Amino acid sequence: MKDRPHDPRRLDVRRFAATAAQLQGCAGAGELPRLVADAPLAGGEGAEWSMRGEQRPGVAGEPEVWLHLQARAHVVLPCQRCLQPMTLPLQGARSIRFVDDEAEAERLDEELDDDVLATPARGRVDALALVEDELIFALPLVPRHDTCPEPLPAPADTARATEADAAPHPFAALAALKRGGRPGR
Ligand SMILES: [Zn+2]
Repeated sequence: MKDRPHDPRRLDVRRFAATAAQLQGCAGAGELPRLVADAPLAGGEGAEWSMRGEQRPGVAGEPEVWLHLQARAHVVLPCQRCLQPMTLPLQGARSIRFVDDEAEAERLDEELDDDVLATPARGRVDALALVEDELIFALPLVPRHDTCPEPLPAPADTARATEADAAPHPFAALAALKRGGRPGR
C-alpha cells in the first residue's frame, strides 16, 4: 500500500507530502486541452513538469501539507504586432498548501500570503490540472516579437490609417503600437 506509485492525476497530497515524494514527467497536448486551445505546443514537444511534496510543522500540531509545482513548455502564438507565429517559452512555479475544508482554505488564503486550497474529498488532487493552470497563467497577455521578422508598414501608411475612417482598420492597431500605446488589457 505504502509503495504504490503516485498518480499525478489523482494525487494523494497528504501521503505525497508525508513521504516528501517527488514526481516529474512530460505532458503531451492531449493532457493539456485547456492550454493548447489557447496556445498549441511548439514542435510536438510536451510540457515538462515536476512536483514535490513537503510536510511542515504546523502551529496547532497538525503538520501542514504542501505541494510545490514547476512547469515549462514552448508554445506557438501569433505576434500581436506582425501577426506571424512566434514560439514562446512558458515557465511557471507554484507552492500550494492544502487544508481539510473549504472554509478554512478561503480564510487562510485571504489571511496569509500562502496559496491555500482545500483538499478534495478522499484527498485526491488532479495535480496535472494545477500544472496546466500554471502554464495558462504564464501566457503573455500581448505576445510580441522583440524584433518582428517582417517590416512594419511605412510611416505614411500608418499616418493615413490613423486619420482615416472610424471603421476598424488593421493598421490602426499597428499605428497605436508604433506610438508606444498598448492594445486593450
Ligand atoms: Zn512580430
